[in-house]
This record gives sequence, C-alpha cells and structure tokens, in this order.
Amino acid sequence: MALLELRDVKYSYKNEYQTVEAVKGISYSFEKGKMYAVVGKSGSGKTTLLSLMAGLDLPTEGEILFEGVSTSSMDIEKYRRQSVAVIYQNFMLFPLLTLAENVMFPMEQNGTDAKTAYQKAKELLLKVGLKEDQCDRYPAMISGGEKQRVAIARALGMNAPVILADEPTGNLDSANSRKIMDILKDLAHNDHYCVIMVTHDDAFAEETDELLRLSDGLAVGSPKRTRMFSVE
Ligand code: ADP
Ligand code: MG
Repeated sequence: MALLELRDVKYSYKNEYQTVEAVKGISYSFEKGKMYAVVGKSGSGKTTLLSLMAGLDLPTEGEILFEGVSTSSMDIEKYRRQSVAVIYQNFMLFPLLTLAENVMFPMEQNGTDAKTAYQKAKELLLKVGLKEDQCDRYPAMISGGEKQRVAIARALGMNAPVILADEPTGNLDSANSRKIMDILKDLAHNDHYCVIMVTHDDAFAEETDELLRLSDGLAVGSPKRTRMFSVE
C-alpha cells in the first residue's frame, strides 16, 4: 500500500466572483524511503497540491489517502500534527523563540514534556549540522542555510513519515542549496521518510527518485523513474 495516494484529486479556489480550477484531476502514489520532485511552471498547481497533501484543506473532488484512509474521513487536525511535516521556502521560524524552542514547539503540541523535547531538539539540531552553542540563539542570529536546517529539524521533531517541502532551496545560495538537498535525500534514503519537494531546480529534480510534472493543474510527461533504474 502506498503511504500517500492521490486519487483523481481536484481543487478549485472559489469566491463570489470567480472559480479557479487549480488542480484538475491528479492521481499519484508516494512511498516511504523515496524522494519525489514536483515540478512545473508558476501557477501549475504545485503549492495547491502540497497544501492538500499537508491537510490544510480537503480536495474539492477526489481523495487523498494516508495509509489507505481518506483525509476527508479522518481527524484532519491530528493528521496535520502527526502525519505530515511541511518545510517552506521562507523557513517560517518563530522569530521570538530560540532555535531549540522552534524545534520543541510541535513536539510539545504532540504531548512531549519540555525537558525531553529540549534534549530531542538539540539532538535534531546537531543532526542537521548546527552547533551545540547555536541551539539557544534566535533565528535572526543565523544564516538562511542554517534557518532551513532548523526548519528541517522542527519537521523531524514531529515524527511524521511524510515531509513536504515547497521550494526549500528557493532562498538559498548554491552551496547551501546543495547541503539542504543532501539532508533531504538522506532522510528519504537512510531514514525512510517519504520526501516530496517542489523545486524549480532541474538538476535537483533529476536527482530525486521520481518526478511529478504538473502543467495547468494536471500531471504530464514521462512515466515514473525509479532510483533502481536511474544512473547515479
Ligand atoms: P504553483 O505553486 O505551481 O505556482 P499554485 O498552486 O500556487 O501554483 O496556483 C495554482 C493556480 O491557483 C494559479 O492559477 C493560482 O493563481 C491559483 N491560486 C492559488 N492560490 C489561490 C487563491 N488563494 N485564490 C485563488 N486562486 C489561487
Ligand atoms: Mg508555489
């Protein structure tokens, strides 16, 4: 069974004046241990699709299944807290919380006590390459590359099997982008996360296990690639 499955997913933004069909019927399966790239021109529906997978809204039509259960028939808040972690282009760290506190936040929401959460947060920050003495600093005191590492550590603290990343390297220079890409790949291939990344970087997209190309709200192009058959 796929970890996350899209079944003819459609989504329209509606207001009193207009309806925008952003996603027009996409089916796809995502598995553990693989890294996926979602690519396509601006406006092709990438962020909308990611938001639906993140449980921020339900599809207008069709279904998204997590471990075989439709997001429209589950406790969607619990799904958001426990099943999917999201990483954004602009990091979305809480500026008034320290790096450790940023990472602790979702853990405490999930019921972990503060002391355990602090230890785990430090562990995760070290895992993604921050230094011990940075843990009690504030986001304003670190670089963009480091901020994205903190965002990844925070995502890992949720213990969610799916990591969704919307252009995670979009605000980073090439050296930092490379490092973030390597961390995400490693999380998929060594820690068995399902990593789904929207990217504009063709070279990074080619490095993933499978590519989902969107055009005008639909999946297009070549069939799936898998790591087994790709040249590395
Ligand atoms: P991408 O991330 O690929 O650039 P989006 O998912 O952001 O694409 O957008 C897909 C389509 O939905 C576009 O036509 C966009 O203008 C439209 N759209 C996105 N967000 C909204 C919104 N909140 N209200 C109305 N239309 C929207
Ligand atoms: Mg987008």
